[in-house]
Amino acid sequence: MLQRPLPLGVARGPVVSDVPPEAVPGGGIGGVKVGEASTVEELVAEGLVSEHWVPGPATTWRRRAGLHLAGKPGPWHEADVTRFLGVSHGELERAVIAFLCSVAGVEPKRTMQVMTGTKFRSLSRQGPESIRDRRMIDLVVTERPDLEGSAGTPRIAVEAKFDAEVNGGQRYCSNPSHIPRSGIPGEAEPGTYASQLVCYPKGCTHDLLCAGNSVAFIWLGPTAASNVLDVADTYTADVNPRRWNLNGYIADCAEWAPHWRVATWNDLNAAVREHLADKGEPVLLAVARALTRESARRDR
Ligand SMILES: [Zn+2]
Repeated sequence: MLQRPLPLGVARGPVVSDVPPEAVPGGGIGGVKVGEASTVEELVAEGLVSEHWVPGPATTWRRRAGLHLAGKPGPWHEADVTRFLGVSHGELERAVIAFLCSVAGVEPKRTMQVMTGTKFRSLSRQGPESIRDRRMIDLVVTERPDLEGSAGTPRIAVEAKFDAEVNGGQRYCSNPSHIPRSGIPGEAEPGTYASQLVCYPKGCTHDLLCAGNSVAFIWLGPTAASNVLDVADTYTADVNPRRWNLNGYIADCAEWAPHWRVATWNDLNAAVREHLADKGEPVLLAVARALTRESARRDR
């Protein structure tokens, strides 16, 4: 149990501003020189991006990826990087899984696969779609001995953040079983606040994705820390503590924060490129760019 004072009474902004991974002088990224980078098509041909799962050539993602990997200006956001990681294949997927396992303290296995949270939800859903499907963590590493067609057993879940602010709010959690400590069990208390910091490891968004199911949770962001509460804001800036019941929520933060490990984009980038060192500079540059936000940010 975390014994750590948490702020009360004053609404505050994000603890950490949105910081992109470091770009090196001269326009290179993460120590890689500017040059010809592999295209998405070439990464598919190399077996580093899944031919089966990669979005089609006419999709917005492919257009964005084509520009970004070529070093040209254009949007490249959290969701775009998450998609890239979710369609990683072969040695790139091995590298991503090895890094996430090292952060999570989980033994890597050849039967592990990484997929987007929405894909995991789609493959694992049983019964009719429920309101709990509204939110989903970004990436899931599962053990899938049968390879395709099943979700497998989840081992690691990753929340990928360029922005370090936690998503949350009043009525954020639609899970009826999310019972505030100071509230009435089973009732949606108007003043209850919740966020992904609590609801993901608690299992509010998916029955199988919870700390109680031995799933490790990773907060992948721009800044290193030993405690997720140091890099993820406890609650959003528009909270009015006098109106909203935060007591139960803040107790939940203290309970669930220790289930999160913190990792950085730069560490992921470096580990993946080390793993792929023999693939040649075009591949390394493409991967480095794919795991890095554009340096000329347009939405600060
Ligand atoms: Zn919840």
